[in-house]
This record gives sequence, C-alpha cells and structure tokens, in this order.
Amino acid sequence: MKVVVLGAGVIGVTTAWWLARSGAEVTVIDRQPGPALETSFANGGQISANHATPWAAPGTPLKALKWLGRIDAPLLFHLRSDAALAAWLLRFLANCTRARTQRNIERALRVALYSRRQLAAVRAETNIAYDQLTRGILHIFRDRREYEAALPAVELMNRLGCERRIVDADGCVALEPALASARRDLIGGMFSPDDESGDARTFTVRLAEKAEALGACFRCNTEVARLLVSGTRIAAVETTSGDEIAADMFVLALGSYSPLLLKPLGLALPVVPAKGYSVTVPIDGHQGAPTVSLIDDEFKMVYSRLGERLRVAGTAEFAGYDVSVTQARARFLLQKAIGLFPDCGDASRAEFWAGLRPSTPDGVPVIGHAPGFDNLVLNTGHGTLGWTMAVGSGRLASDLILGQPPEIPLNGLGLERFR
Ligand SMILES: Cc1cc2nc3c(=O)[nH]c(=O)nc-3n(C[C@H](O)[C@H](O)[C@H](O)COP(=O)(O)OP(=O)(O)OC[C@H]3O[C@@H](n4cnc5c(N)ncnc54)[C@H](O)[C@@H]3O)c2cc1C
Repeated sequence: MKVVVLGAGVIGVTTAWWLARSGAEVTVIDRQPGPALETSFANGGQISANHATPWAAPGTPLKALKWLGRIDAPLLFHLRSDAALAAWLLRFLANCTRARTQRNIERALRVALYSRRQLAAVRAETNIAYDQLTRGILHIFRDRREYEAALPAVELMNRLGCERRIVDADGCVALEPALASARRDLIGGMFSPDDESGDARTFTVRLAEKAEALGACFRCNTEVARLLVSGTRIAAVETTSGDEIAADMFVLALGSYSPLLLKPLGLALPVVPAKGYSVTVPIDGHQGAPTVSLIDDEFKMVYSRLGERLRVAGTAEFAGYDVSVTQARARFLLQKAIGLFPDCGDASRAEFWAGLRPSTPDGVPVIGHAPGFDNLVLNTGHGTLGWTMAVGSGRLASDLILGQPPEIPLNGLGLERFR
C-alpha cells in the first residue's frame, strides 16, 4: 500500500515510522529541507501526560481578560478581524465549562498516556537517544489561591490513572535542589513521577532516519499546494512546482497549516496557530540548572534539562502565522529563568525561538478519518502537547490507514465532534 504523509514534524514522522515498520510504502512530504524544522524544532521538551489539561477551563476567560495588553501575559490575544479565529474563540469559550473541561481532559489524557507507553516501546526498540530524562515533572506554585485551586486536579488525575503527588515547599527543594534559592517564595508543588522530558527535534530526526532505513522516502523542500479530489477519494497531492504525487492513502499532519489544505475540500478544521517562545541556555559548566523537568505555575513556563542545555518555554500568543521573535516576550522568559535559577548557564549565549502550536478549541487533537473522504486520515491539532502525544498519535493514525483496530478507543477524537 502506498501512503503519503504530509508533514515531517514530530507527528508526521512518528506516523511514517509506524507505517514503514508495518511494511507500507511511505513517502513523507515537507517544505523544509529536513524533519522537525517548524513547531517540533525547539519546544519545551516535556512528555507531560499528567498535564493534559486544556487551556479551555472555567477560570481561563477571566484570567485572559486580566492579561490583555500585558507584554508578559501567558495567554495573549491580538484582537483583529479574523473570522477563523473569532469562530475558534466562540468554541473555546463554549469549552470552558466544568463538564466539558473534564470530558476534554479524559480525551487528551487517553492519548497522552497511550503515547507515553508507546514512546517507551519505541525507545526500547530503536535505542534512539534524545537527551531523555525519566525523572518526572514538578509543578511549582507561589500563589496560595492558585495552589489550592489546583489541588482537586490531583485527585482527578489519580482517578484517571496518572500518579500526581502533593508536595510542600521543602519537598519541592528535596526533589530539585536547584530550587533552593527560590525556597522562601514557594507555597508547594505537585509532582508527577512518571512524566518525562527530552529533545523532540533530535527524536524526530533520528526516528526519520530509522523510517528511511525501513524504506520510507522523504521528499523535502517540497511544498504542497492542494489535494486533488476524485469523488470521495484523494487522488494525489499537487506541489507548488506542479508535480502530482499519487497514493492509495494520505495522512494530513501539517500542524497549524492543516486547515488550509482542508478548506477547499469543504472541511472546516478548527485549528489555529498559537505562538509560543523558547529560550535555550547552554549550561557551560554552571552548577545551578535543574534536572527535574518543571512547570512554573505563576508564569506558565516550563523547564527541561536537555543534556548540557536548559530549555525554557512558555507564552501563547494568537497572532496568526507570524513566527517572528518579539524580543520583549522572549527576554521575559530568560529573565524569569535566571531569577529562578541564577547559576543555570551562560545567558549571553541563549538562543531564542518561536513556533506555532496547532491548537484546537477543546485542547484535544484531531485523529481520525476526514469526514466524506475514504482515504484521508487527519493527525493534527496537538496544541501544547504534540511531543507528549506524538508516538501514540502516530500509531493510531497508522492503524487507521492499515485498517487495524486501534489499541485505545477513538471516540471524541475525530473532526466530527465539531459538527
Ligand atoms: C513554545 C512551545 C513549547 C512547547 N512545549 C511542548 C512541550 O513541552 N511538550 C509537548 O508535548 N508539546 C510542546 N509543544 C507543542 C509541540 O511542539 C507541537 O504540538 C508539535 O511540535 C506539533 O507537531 P506537528 O508535527 O503537528 O507540527 P510541525 O512540527 O509544525 O510539523 C508540520 C510540518 O508541516 C510542514 N508543512 C506545513 N505546511 C506545508 C505545506 N503546504 N507543504 C509542505 N509541508 C508543509 C512544516 O514544514 C512542518 O515540518 C510546544 C510548542 C511550542 C510552540
């Protein structure tokens, strides 16, 4: 069976690997010169199943209003006329009820937990090294009200099969001694011992090599212009240079750009780009960088130790497809990182980056057949958790393509849920 996978980010590459491993004849198409050069390039590095909680939650609308116009706002909406964003925002607000948030957590967590298991299996099978650490994730709090508001989630997560422990401020420092200088500001934390961290880009590049060794073909520097339809099937993809690439089956994994190819087919995919920033600090012999991956609740920032680098990431900005780095927002991350870990590395050599999270209004990815098309599978919209969910999502999409029963239920993951 000939399968074309559109997109060589972490989602497209994991899909391609599972397909190639099952003997499919796979071609991966990407406009960049190699894999993982867009959103999968320098993300926060967390495999955080335990934090599969959507942005759309009861407290978010009020917080977003308070943050409006602040340069350090963790969530920033650039109000402008954009019909797709307006429709997305209405759906986002509709998902901020308690009942819908719990339903969305269950759906996202189902994929994230499955993915963590599949990642462990792929690691064991391929021996890929990607600066992975399996030391858990510690979520720290400075604000007592925010901390107390987060406590019920511990019980919910434990009930849904995710171990999460409450720790006091001394417990936080015992888990991560690099937090010592921040001890007096901390109220406490929550620790999820089974979560992990690692470099998504390195993993994606290495897995692409493994897929190639299994026979997958990567057509890089190739931009897809449109999908050519014949009845209820996709016949081929047309590239911007006019080539047509035919196949039996197609997987759409173009991250934030996925809706653009579906729109001419009459399919509205509610995925919008949410820009985030990361800063990578070389540790360079400094002794104060953490090794446990962290979430700083106050600034909605994450920290991951990637070998001899510290990756710091955060902020979400709805600013269309603009990937330019706004210095003030990127430097804010660096300044907060140095505040928390004064001896974490050589800040003068920090590298700044911005990428677009492909975000759905309910915080759940879109994995399933494209309605109305027999041979097109969607694997996109992974938002803040694409790395966390990649290996499992790739397996699910591959199973759908090959007609194999998926190992977890797919209800509530398809595009139909938005109709
Ligand atoms: C700041 C930040 C921090 C993050 N931190 C984390 C984290 O800690 N943990 C986590 O789980 N997730 C995190 N994420 C989210 C995660 O990085 C994404 O969900 C994930 O990378 C999305 O992968 P993707 O393959 O769908 O998209 P991409 O990596 O963007 O891949 C899509 C590919 O499609 C290609 N493409 C697009 N259009 C075309 C076209 N027309 N023709 C050809 N090719 C095309 C692009 O070149 C690209 O390679 C973070 C994201 C950001 C921005």
